[in-house]
Amino acid sequence: MKKCYKCEEVKDLNHYYTDRTRKDGLTNQCKSCKYKYDKEYSKKRRKYFDKYYKENKQAYVDYNERRRERHRVEPRIRMKEGAKRRALKKGLEYNLESYKDLPKMPVFCPILGIPLVSSRGSKNGGSDNSPSLDRINNDVGYIKGNLQIISRKANQMKSNGNFRDIEKLYLFMKQQQIKQK
Ligand SMILES: [Zn+2]
Repeated sequence: MKKCYKCEEVKDLNHYYTDRTRKDGLTNQCKSCKYKYDKEYSKKRRKYFDKYYKENKQAYVDYNERRRERHRVEPRIRMKEGAKRRALKKGLEYNLESYKDLPKMPVFCPILGIPLVSSRGSKNGGSDNSPSLDRINNDVGYIKGNLQIISRKANQMKSNGNFRDIEKLYLFMKQQQIKQK
């Protein structure tokens, strides 16, 4: 039996939670007092955060706006985040600490020569001209030095066909062009 310091009732030991920091290994208030206390505490916390959020709403809005702006100006931030996600999902090696570990964003796609344009916001999915991260050696993960920034179009072409297929396509199309002339 133990007396609860809060309600001061003497209760059986199974009315107390274990607490290893206490001498007798039990909390000094009974389960029902603890339950009331926790409930009250979480209500207070909720109230506090609601109030805090209301008073600082503009700061939150500003913060999100700044964050979006930063991502728009520096698309490598989003690229790094995406790389991390894909590395985890595919179980690939990953050692990027900052977006600065990615190569500088080129103005033109090094493969197709089209301008790279990062579109506003991440929801609209981008376009052929969106910059995208490509692993130079496909057997290696997202590792510094194994990454290049190319257009999404080029990236899709690279992943759709292997080297031999693209060569065949190229030769075939070239033949047809010659015939047409
Ligand atoms: Zn009690």
